[in-house]
Amino acid sequence: MNNGYELLTCKDKGQGIFATKQFHSGEIVMVGVIEKDNIDENHSHASQMGEFRYALHGGEITKVNHSCNPNCGINLNNAGAHDFIAMHPIEIGEEVTFDYAMRNYIIEHFPYTCCCGAKNCRGRITGWKDLPESFKSTYKGYVAPYLIEIDVQLKN
Ligand SMILES: [Zn+2]
Repeated sequence: MNNGYELLTCKDKGQGIFATKQFHSGEIVMVGVIEKDNIDENHSHASQMGEFRYALHGGEITKVNHSCNPNCGINLNNAGAHDFIAMHPIEIGEEVTFDYAMRNYIIEHFPYTCCCGAKNCRGRITGWKDLPESFKSTYKGYVAPYLIEIDVQLKN
């Protein structure tokens, strides 16, 4: 079965998800399914779903790597899980990436240097809280809704 992506082992950063077909901008690349909801801890594979709510997604979507210049963003689906949506056209063989800041307000578990290799790499994997405005505006419409809610609350 061809879902449009496959899990491969890359030379320098472990495993990653790669496109096996082309995706148009706005197309769903991977459908998120929540495996375990309401876990009370923020850990490296947890997705933040609310200010104090974390969930674990299941399946290969958890293998998608971070990039500071991602080709996917997040959309909350009807089941309350995060789908990955193409922000740009994605070519066959291209690695599917997103920015961890799109779903986590604070990143506590990636203290080390970012090695995504993007030209605009921030050098460190930061959460939404520490994300520069220039990134936030680029990601508009592609981040977990609760992050936008926090920003609105902080402004008022
Ligand atoms: Zn980076």
